[in-house]
Amino acid sequence: MFRLKFCLQGAFIILKFLIYRIRIPFLKNVIIIGGGISGLLTAIQLTSALIPTIVIEKKNYPFHRVCGEYISNETVPFLRSLDLFPENLNPPFIRRFQLSSMNGKNQILPLDLGGFGISRYTFDNLLYERAKMLGATFLLNEEVEKCSFDHERFKLTTTSTQLEADVVVGAFGKRSKMDMHLQRNFINKRSPYVGVKYHIKTDHSNDLIALHNFKGGYCGISNVEGDKTNLCYLTHRDNIRQHKSIREMEEAIMFKNPLLKSIFKNSQFLFNKPETINEISFETKLPVENHILMTGDAAGMITPLCGNGMAMAMHSSKILSELIIDEFAKTNFNREILEKKYVMKWNALFRRRLWFGRQVQKLFGNEWASNLTVNLAINVRPLAQLIIKGTHGKPF
Ligand SMILES: Cc1cc2nc3c(=O)[nH]c(=O)nc-3n(C[C@H](O)[C@H](O)[C@H](O)COP(=O)(O)OP(=O)(O)OC[C@H]3O[C@@H](n4cnc5c(N)ncnc54)[C@H](O)[C@@H]3O)c2cc1C
Repeated sequence: MFRLKFCLQGAFIILKFLIYRIRIPFLKNVIIIGGGISGLLTAIQLTSALIPTIVIEKKNYPFHRVCGEYISNETVPFLRSLDLFPENLNPPFIRRFQLSSMNGKNQILPLDLGGFGISRYTFDNLLYERAKMLGATFLLNEEVEKCSFDHERFKLTTTSTQLEADVVVGAFGKRSKMDMHLQRNFINKRSPYVGVKYHIKTDHSNDLIALHNFKGGYCGISNVEGDKTNLCYLTHRDNIRQHKSIREMEEAIMFKNPLLKSIFKNSQFLFNKPETINEISFETKLPVENHILMTGDAAGMITPLCGNGMAMAMHSSKILSELIIDEFAKTNFNREILEKKYVMKWNALFRRRLWFGRQVQKLFGNEWASNLTVNLAINVRPLAQLIIKGTHGKPF
């Protein structure tokens, strides 16, 4: 028994070596740059179809990320089809939406589709474990620095090694070293947004997601598994620059909304320090660049205000994986057809939604417009519902 296991492991290592180091013409392989929601789900779908797949991720699981951790219910059929809906974690189901203006005036609205809450720490780790179990190879704590395409083959350089692939999926999120390497258009435009996230213990209804506005930003609050609450906000960097610390800014600016002040004052903060990210850009991107097939935020990021970036990341991983699997099944793999089909499908599904999200974000960037919009949405329900509808997709 021990010998058999030993032999099988040896055969598996040799096979991997042959696939990734020496090109076997009939066995095409995929390298995924980035192991967030979209990268991990692409790996799960490709390995399920027996396509040799490597995921290169610059961090190590499990880890926290800046994210509101509210997942739109449009993803539920897809997650169930992969047996990945985290039923056993008992995630809170969110069906109501509270919107408050800067002075705390607020309204609660029903959410047509709704969503559920789960921390990225837990969910990404669950996806990682599944991908690994299905046979995906992981290079962790490795950052891809370069990726070139020549004679129908990709050559990748990471922090410590070099690899080759037939297809490369760009799942490196909103902003990465890869964007600079590829000299993508948006990377030179500076973005003024900073994201901050905490997990807290507080008294917040399980079925409610709140969006509280403050000058130069907005803060989302909703529950995740384990009776914890996610508090995550996006703010203009000027807010932080004008104050000595994040905490000082929160007290000086965010506390002007009495609902936010009450939450900050009556909660136990579970992190030693907040998770933060800066330079969050909502500029348009392309779904294919230098033959790299981009998925999730790397293809285009919707404003967090819309609360469905993760749903879009999952949906783009689904359409991309299906196309790769179809194309690999043919005797004559045609890259041009794969790229064309992906760009067409991606545009049809996401281009309009991203545009709508950007227009809504613009309204929230300016104090006067933001106050007007929030007050209108609070008083005119159909307007709020129109905004929610315009930024969300259908279940997939
Ligand atoms: C403030 C804020 C709040 C949000 N709230 C919500 C919400 O409530 N609901 C929702 O649906 N969406 C929300 N989003 C959006 C959501 O977080 C993203 O849409 C989603 O994480 C995109 O997944 P992804 O796989 O594309 O990228 P990510 O999850 O960002 O993963 C990218 C991965 O690539 C890795 N990486 C990057 N470069 C390299 C490299 N060169 N080599 C190797 N690895 C690399 C990174 O370490 C990372 O793990 C929010 C976003 C922000 C900023």
